Amino acid sequence: MAIRNIRKIGDSVLNKVSKEVKEVNKKLLILIDDMIETMYDAAGVGLAAPQVGILKRLVVIDVSEEGDSPIVLINPVILESEGEQTGDEGCLSVPGKVGTVTRPNYVKVKAYDKDMKEFIIEGTDLLARALSHEIDHLDGKLYVDKAIGGLRNVMGPEDEE
Ligand code: ZN
Repeated sequence: MAIRNIRKIGDSVLNKVSKEVKEVNKKLLILIDDMIETMYDAAGVGLAAPQVGILKRLVVIDVSEEGDSPIVLINPVILESEGEQTGDEGCLSVPGKVGTVTRPNYVKVKAYDKDMKEFIIEGTDLLARALSHEIDHLDGKLYVDKAIGGLRNVMGPEDEE
């Protein structure tokens, strides 16, 4: 496994529409492992393939407290969404910033796993937000365009002098 370089806002790859995954081969399995490692290394709750420069419809998410339950979603599609939640959101491609974004409070998503077996995942709260945010990446959309009142700076421990 290897940590991949996370593309930052301004990189045009983040604004492109990703292509469907046709088959899970060895190269894709390596990409999946690398994306999971990269997400954990950056302390994110989700990462989409275009964020590491690969325009494929592939997302990894882990909203668990322990950070030991990665979900792999290939060709995810939102089937249903309900309700609203408004809260702060960040993105590994937009470091040091947060913005307030309204998302559905419930989503039902169809996707494929590493064996290209179809599955359904339902998410509320943070999982619904993460699913919506990551699937947006596959369509070249960043949360910054949905942020109410623009972005704010966050100061992490590494930014303190
Ligand atoms: Zn993001």
